[in-house]
Formats: sequence, structure tokens, C-alpha cells
Amino acid sequence: MTTVAIIREQAEGERRVAMTPETCRKLRAKGVQIQIQCGAGLSAGFSDADYEGALLDQSADAVLQQADVLLCVQSPSPENLLLLKEGAIIIGALAPHLAGQRLPVHLQLKHSAFALEKLPRTTRAQAMDILSSQAGMAGYKAVLIAAQRAPRFFPMLTTAAGTIRPSRVLIVGAGVAGLQAIATAKRLGAQVEGFDVRPETREQIESLGGKFLDLGVSAVGEGGYARALTDDERALQQERLAAHLKLVDVVVTTAAVPGRPAPKIITDAMVAGMRRGSVVVDLAAETGGNCTRTEPGSEVDCDGVLVIGPLNLASMGAVHASEMFSRNLFNFLCLLIDDTGVVNIPFDDELVAKSCIAHNGAEPAQGAQ
Ligand code: NAD
Repeated sequence: MTTVAIIREQAEGERRVAMTPETCRKLRAKGVQIQIQCGAGLSAGFSDADYEGALLDQSADAVLQQADVLLCVQSPSPENLLLLKEGAIIIGALAPHLAGQRLPVHLQLKHSAFALEKLPRTTRAQAMDILSSQAGMAGYKAVLIAAQRAPRFFPMLTTAAGTIRPSRVLIVGAGVAGLQAIATAKRLGAQVEGFDVRPETREQIESLGGKFLDLGVSAVGEGGYARALTDDERALQQERLAAHLKLVDVVVTTAAVPGRPAPKIITDAMVAGMRRGSVVVDLAAETGGNCTRTEPGSEVDCDGVLVIGPLNLASMGAVHASEMFSRNLFNFLCLLIDDTGVVNIPFDDELVAKSCIAHNGAEPAQGAQ
């Protein structure tokens, strides 16, 4: 019988879990055995008893040794991966660009490792798309952090002590996280603007009640993503943005270009030009930041302008983020396991081929990446 396993996440501050009791039930219905390290779901709000029918073990080592399939949010350490069986399957957010010492272990032990960040953004992949599901939580939390740290209300208020004008919130980058940030800021009553270099985001921003900030720069790249801006485009964007930032109270930046460090969009000078009491929340802090004043994992007070660079925001909403993440993994696993619990990896499926970073002792051909 195939054993699907999880251990406690090891990365500092990681509260999410790769399998919830709901996906445990669904997997058992597919005829697989579930093996769980005790306490694996606790930080996401799930007790061991919630995982009905799962086999529990105190020791991560014991669980790893029995796993045919290991599900994870972030990859375990190379030392832990060495405990997996030869030919084991690992699925999660494996951060292939940081795979360093993990990749040789996968190759040595002929693991089949699937990094779901590498799934193509196609319609069929949506149910497995961990980038989207986790970005939604990150965008939501980024706005809540901004609302909490800003020294003002977001909504307009008419009170006996006079009228309070609503906060002006600008969301930079209107991908999955940015659109959720716009929706959240709007629900809190702020005046919301968004901008992106992909022109199709205008309609999406407006449909959420936001205003599209047109900086006159359009940079559509491949596969629905943005491309990096040319020097001239960047200069134009920066000049117009600098003038606009003097008027806003809160900025949430979410801009990213796949495979590259986050584009630097908000410069030192722009921060210096913002009003005291303004807040910048840089959701791109993990990949270097969209703001030059961002310090990942910290808050920097820049002469009265607070620049916040939170890390792993999805983990802050661990319950719902885990529910979505584990459904993404379950849907992917359904490509590999049939209804009798038998594993058969269909490499002719592009979702499988493109997310695979190691199989049978080799890295997949570049053409499949
Ligand atoms: P992302 O995290 O790569 O980037 C976030 C946003 O930053 C993007 O909207 C991008 O255009 C923007 N950006 C990049 N450089 C910028 C700059 N210099 N200034 C301003 N904005 C900048 O993007 P994402 O949220 O992962 O999604 C990107 C695209 O993929 C969207 O079109 C989205 O609809 C699409 N998508 C498709 C699927 C699917 O069909 N399976 C799933 C998710 C996303």
C-alpha cells in the first residue's frame, strides 16, 4: 500500500501544513495509507486526533523512512531527505532555485521531486497552483498589516469630532496578491488605486472598485507575466510614480517578474518624498523588495515613513493557507496516483513534466522546464 506522509515543517516561522484532515480523508478514500509526525498540523490549528485513520509517530526520522510520497510546504533539510527511501516522491514548494544541497540528495536516491512553483499557469493547473493560493493570503495580510500600522483610519468617517477623510492606498503590481490586496483595502473603506505594467489589469482593478493608476508604461511578457522594464520605461515609471506617492498614505507593493529579483520600483528618494505617517508594506521583501529601503523581515522608520518588509505572509493565515495548499497538493497527487492508490507518474503530462526537478537520478531535460 502506498504511504503518503508529512512531517512537522522545519523552516523558522513556518506555520502551514501540507496535509489537512480534509485531504487526509480524501487520500485515504483513494486507498493510500497516511503517516504523520505527531504535532505536524498543530501550528495550523489541526490536532493529531483530527487526522482520522492516520498512523502517528513522534519521530520525523521514522516517518521519513516509511514514506513513499512526502508532502511538504517547504522542503525538509538535505539530512532529512537522505532518510527517504530510494525512489520516493516529494511534492511541495521546493524552491528549486535554492535547491543547492538538496538536489544531489534527490539525484543520489533517485527521488521524484516536484516543485509546484514550476507548474505552468494554465487553466488545468489552477487547482494545483500554490503560487496563486498562497499569494491570495499574502495580499490580504499585507493590507491588514498596513491598516494596523498606519496612524489613521482607512474608511471615511463622519463624526461629532468632524469628518475623517479616507486613506489613499496604492497597490503596486496587480497579480494575484495585488488584486486580493485591492479587494481587502476596498473592503476596509480606503480609496484604492492600483497599477501594473500589464494593461489588462486595468479592467481587473476597476472590477474590484479600485482606480487604475496609468503611469504610461506597458510591459507584457510571455505566459501572461510581466517582462523586465527597459531603462527608459523604468525612468518614466519612476518619475510619474514619485509625484504620485506624495499624495498617498499607504503603499503595498507586490510586483514580481518570474525568475528575477523583484524590480526596484520605490527608491530612497521616493520614500523621502512621502508624507510623514505614510506606510509602505513590501510584499516582495522575500525576493529583494520593490522598495530600496526595505529590510526583509524588519520595519524601518525612514524619517516618519514606515517601510515594512514582512516575510512568509501566507504562514500568518496558516489555517486557510494550509487548506488551500493541501488541496493544491492533493489535486496534483491525483495525477500520480490512481483510484486504487497505485503510483504511476505520467511524464507525458506537461504539468508533471514541467514541475519535476529530479527523477530517476537525473534532472529533467531543459526542454521540459
Ligand atoms: P507575479 O507574482 O509574477 O507578479 C505580480 C505582478 O507584478 C504582476 O501582475 C506583474 O505584472 C506585476 N509587475 C511586474 N513588474 C512590474 C513593474 N515594474 N511595475 C508594476 N507591476 C509590475 O504575478 P502573479 O500574481 O503570479 O500572476 C501573473 C499573471 O499570471 C497574471 O496574469 C495572472 O492572472 C496569471 N495567472 C494565471 C493563472 C492560471 O491561469 N493558472 C494562475 C495564476 C496567475
